Amino acid sequence: MEGLDILKDVEEYDVAIIGAGPAGLTSAIYSARYGLKTVIFETLPASQLALAPIIENYPGFEGNGFELLNKMKNQALKFGAVHKFENVERLIKKDCFYIITDSKTYKAKAIIIATGGENRELGVEGEKEFIGKGVSYCATCDGNFFRGKRVAVVGGGNTAVTDAIYLKEIGCDVLLIHRRDELRAEKALQKKLFERGIEVIWNTVVLKIEGNEKVERLVLLNIKTNEKSVLEVDGVFIAVGIKPATDIVSDLGVERDSNGYIKVDKRQRTNIEGVFAAGDCCDNPLKQVVTACGDGAVAANSAFEFIINKYKSNK
Ligand code: NAP
Repeated sequence: MEGLDILKDVEEYDVAIIGAGPAGLTSAIYSARYGLKTVIFETLPASQLALAPIIENYPGFEGNGFELLNKMKNQALKFGAVHKFENVERLIKKDCFYIITDSKTYKAKAIIIATGGENRELGVEGEKEFIGKGVSYCATCDGNFFRGKRVAVVGGGNTAVTDAIYLKEIGCDVLLIHRRDELRAEKALQKKLFERGIEVIWNTVVLKIEGNEKVERLVLLNIKTNEKSVLEVDGVFIAVGIKPATDIVSDLGVERDSNGYIKVDKRQRTNIEGVFAAGDCCDNPLKQVVTACGDGAVAANSAFEFIINKYKSNK
């Protein structure tokens, strides 16, 4: 095997957690509290929670996602988990697991994959060209640039509706463009959207994003009437879902479903012994902060049991 030198001079841990979103951080809290030597890698893509402008359905907390994430991170560090801001590039399974980052190699008895998801692209002309010039996937990061300006949000799920409400609240003139005549977002969010008078352009898809130096207009198609129209905007926020960030597990032979989500059982075990997964990267039915945390706790417990059973003779 090429480059076996990278497997020497490694830092050793019991559990390595890949991804520092709510699933990974909860795993880290539990793993550290079980007395396991735990490392957590804050790797790319960044946690979606960090970008959430408002969290209202995580019991006992109301605030923005970054604030919640920081609280979780501090809690994990308090219990002794080691945090590394390193991008994980490769995972290798031998007698144990090797985690190769952009700066170092680590070794662990068990790994927990909590890599979440990354933004799905719309896939239309002009989208890539205008990223950072009016096309954004993050209302909390880029919303400020559009105060007092006209923006469109594309999508009908919780993210799109939350983003539209946030953008309206910071002073943007907001329109929501959705491909159907019914939103997917939860009713409590829809209520807020309509209370704020945000206009929804129903049954409509974006065909093209146009402009010169930056976004100036969207070419739209009403899929019911087949009518095309042009909408003048200064920016467009794309919120059409996430895709799981699971390429990292391909070398390990971890099974994924046809959409790329990691297959796990009720104990958050994958098909590979010693590899567990938690949160949005898994094929779980509900993708929420609270369920990601639940997955993370179960994954840490399963990793603990795996290590005790496999290594008890060496303890
Ligand atoms: P989502 O729930 O998958 O919704 C994606 C939306 O984009 C859908 O409305 C979908 O339309 C639309 N869409 C997908 N592809 C499209 C395309 N090519 N062109 C136009 N529209 C397209 O994604 P999300 O809103 O990012 O949420 C992801 C997960 O995180 C969900 O499980 C969600 O519940 C969770 N989340 C929760 C909260 C919260 O609880 N506050 C906040 C954010 C996210 P259709 O409806 O027609 O399919």
